[in-house]
Amino acid sequence: SPILLWFRRDLRLSDHPALTEAAESGRPVIPVFLLDEVLEDHGAAPKWRMGLAVERFAERLSEKGARLILRRGRALETLRDLVEETGAGAVWWTRLYDPLARDRDERVKAGLKDDGVDARSFHGHVLFEPWTVETKTGGYYKVYTPMWRAVRDRDPGRALPAPKEWRHPGTWPDSDRLEDWKLGAAMNRGAAVVANHVTVGEDAASHRLGAFMAHKIDHYGEARDIPGTDGTSGLSENLTYGEIGPRSCWEAGRRAIEEGKKGAETFLQELVWREFAYHLVYHTPRLMTGNWKEDWDAFPWNEDERKAEVKAWKRGRTGMELVDAAMREMHVTGTMHNRGRMIVASYLTKHLMTHWKIGCRWFEEHLIDWDPASNSLGWQWSAGSGPDATPYFRVFNPETQVDRFDKDGTYRRAWIAENRGNPAKTALAFFDCIPRSWNMSPEDDYPEPVVGAKEGRQRALDAYENRPF
Ligand code: FAD
Repeated sequence: SPILLWFRRDLRLSDHPALTEAAESGRPVIPVFLLDEVLEDHGAAPKWRMGLAVERFAERLSEKGARLILRRGRALETLRDLVEETGAGAVWWTRLYDPLARDRDERVKAGLKDDGVDARSFHGHVLFEPWTVETKTGGYYKVYTPMWRAVRDRDPGRALPAPKEWRHPGTWPDSDRLEDWKLGAAMNRGAAVVANHVTVGEDAASHRLGAFMAHKIDHYGEARDIPGTDGTSGLSENLTYGEIGPRSCWEAGRRAIEEGKKGAETFLQELVWREFAYHLVYHTPRLMTGNWKEDWDAFPWNEDERKAEVKAWKRGRTGMELVDAAMREMHVTGTMHNRGRMIVASYLTKHLMTHWKIGCRWFEEHLIDWDPASNSLGWQWSAGSGPDATPYFRVFNPETQVDRFDKDGTYRRAWIAENRGNPAKTALAFFDCIPRSWNMSPEDDYPEPVVGAKEGRQRALDAYENRPF
């Protein structure tokens, strides 16, 4: 009987253990993708980008003579219908670790098993599964560095090549049309602009990894911290939809170490940050929903999104150039440099004393590389409420950060148009993708700071000093 292969964040053929095993079984394989309760809930940009990933993946499957069957509805019920229609005896998928996906997958597994279906999940989205990395006392790592030491020399297993061929069913079940799902509906004007900055699909991702290893890895150690430089891999966009597997990245990094490439170890360390985020979200799902350190529930965060300064932060008009540049980069490209993410998150949670959840949700709406685990960890790390977090009293100064990371102004020039004689194209593109109701124009004067760098810092430190815990 056929195997339904349920694809989610694993839209690739290589480094895919479930697909390889299904191909080797000799049984017909029916690839399926669902617009289910988890995807329905995605923010605008990740949902739109998922649509692009699905479109490209369907093309890739068709090159292999296969089809990607699209269905809309709650996962368990929809898969049950498909099992009935196709006579499939098995439903296989790649495991995910964030709480929403896990709840869904547990329901699916239990329900299908009750029906006598071989419901099985496979390893593939991370290098090391969360229960396989333990501290000496048997718990999970709450601090990054010892976790890095524990896994740096561990073998995550080989990235499997794409199966050459596999059996297809005699007849294919009906499929929805991707256009009818309108996954880009909430993007409004943004889609046309962000579309210039995406790199979609397995081939493109693998090419991107190759180019990064050939041209950038040697300087990655220093260049990765300078937001005006194209010094990082850009792979987060592909890793999050599984257009490339983490093992392929790890293998390339290890090869680069053997070749004596300087930044290679740092690259592996960054991949382990992604692992760290998944391990934490698996062991403590509240990382995604509330303060990881529960004391912080009593901190007097501002939770009012309507406040003028919060609006200014969202719209890239705080009057702090580095903060605004980074926010605008996200609107235009759908991603933001890691340095920018740290700066805007510190500014929102410290200078503006606003709850990290507000920033976390804003990122979830706008990032095409939105990753449930890394985003929550990044925000709680920045806010001080997370595991292994930067302490609250370490407030990034958006003015001195300029001297350290954008001294020549490249990054600010790229993203800020106001009060500049000849604004960069990218800076102007910002005005083409934001809602018209924001009423912003490149001809406006650049705003005065909503909160001064010193004053905001002092306010944050005072609140922290007088915290109720
Ligand atoms: P590279 O420097 O080339 O790194 C290679 C890979 O390592 C990345 O693709 C990513 O998978 C992983 N990685 C690198 N840095 C981190 C990190 N700090 N945490 C976890 N994984 C990391 N990353 C996301 O993928 N999705 C998010 O939604 C996300 N939200 C963030 C929010 C905040 C507030 C902060 C501070 C960080 C966030 N990050 C997120 C982490 C990081 O900023 C991005 O992974 C990185 O900028 C992606 O660029 P790159 O692919 O060029 O990274």
